[in-house]
Amino acid sequence: MRFEALIAAGADAPLDAPAAFALGAAAPDDVPTAALAAAARARRDRVFGRRVTFSPKVFLPVTNLCRSFCDYCAFRRSPKDPGAHTMAPDEFDAQLARARAAGCVEALLCLGDRPEAVFGGYRRQLAAWGHASTVDYLAWCAARALDAGLLPHTNAGVLSAAELAALRPVNASMGLMLESASARLCGRGLPHHRAPDKQPALRLQMHADAGRLRIPFTSGVLVGIGETARERVETLLAIRDVHRAHGGHVQEVIVQRFRAHAGTAMASAPEPSGDDNARAIALARLVLDDDVSVQAPPNLSGADIAALLDAGVDDLGGISPLTPDFINPGHAWPHLARLGDALAAAGHALTPRLPIHERFAARRGFVAPALAPYLAPARARLGEVLGARAEAA
Ligand code: SF4
Repeated sequence: MRFEALIAAGADAPLDAPAAFALGAAAPDDVPTAALAAAARARRDRVFGRRVTFSPKVFLPVTNLCRSFCDYCAFRRSPKDPGAHTMAPDEFDAQLARARAAGCVEALLCLGDRPEAVFGGYRRQLAAWGHASTVDYLAWCAARALDAGLLPHTNAGVLSAAELAALRPVNASMGLMLESASARLCGRGLPHHRAPDKQPALRLQMHADAGRLRIPFTSGVLVGIGETARERVETLLAIRDVHRAHGGHVQEVIVQRFRAHAGTAMASAPEPSGDDNARAIALARLVLDDDVSVQAPPNLSGADIAALLDAGVDDLGGISPLTPDFINPGHAWPHLARLGDALAAAGHALTPRLPIHERFAARRGFVAPALAPYLAPARARLGEVLGARAEAA
């Protein structure tokens, strides 16, 4: 009975911390997943209705060089590793042209942590291209994306306030998944023990800096890398706290299911079950504020899109018609027309959006003045995405 009251409260408003911890720690026999999901759906439907958004994107892995070694990562490379690659300016431009032709509206710029801190050859390559730092190169890349009619969203690992400020005028939004608020996971033998930028305090500092700069921000939790149930709730509460304390700037939180990749230290670690994932999504919806979307990547859910919808997601994140998910190789994004049909069958409307959610575009101060002229043309191109989907159906 006690749990029923807590679940009902979460359907109306964000759970307070004691309620979140109680529900997060409860066993499925005491708090059935179906009950959590029903409350999360009720919150989602009341706030977002039946529209489920996604961002038509091109994934641009500016460099996969990274100074960190996360035990689950299939993306990172050192310079001599097979597949190590930094996109050259002409390669970047060519991919933008393809993206534009394929109907992409978002340019996702993604890379490893601070490669220039450890790789001299990479520093020299940037200098040969005329750039003093990774952030300098990213600013150039983002400006090229804007010129090509795409809106950049940059996820470059931990950045300083000055680096965020430098990238703000050329990015519609930016992101950094908190992943976990647990510093314990940085301990010896745990997934972040060789990843200096995965210290939660550093990542929360960047969240706070982004809030002060009024940058529409994407955070996220990584589900199933060894965190406890309590730590999972602490992560959601930490994101909520920094969102509330620094201007309400977190526009979406990704609930990302750990997937084991061959060749990584966690290749044989158990993956979270579909039920674990559904509970994590539902809990996120019940804890986070109403102006924060709960996002889950559809390519990590197996064939079960309905399970994501049932658990309360209102956003499916970036989906690319052109490029693979370089972070999760082997997990292809679904075909848009088929995804739209699956959502329609479940009573939802799949709706393309910009990388800045419209409720943030409408809020004072969240669109850098230099960026404002690019939004209307990008919105018009979202209409083309809808038209192409209708033709493909
Ligand atoms: S997850 Fe990110 S920080 Fe960690 S090793 Fe991979 S690219 Fe580097």
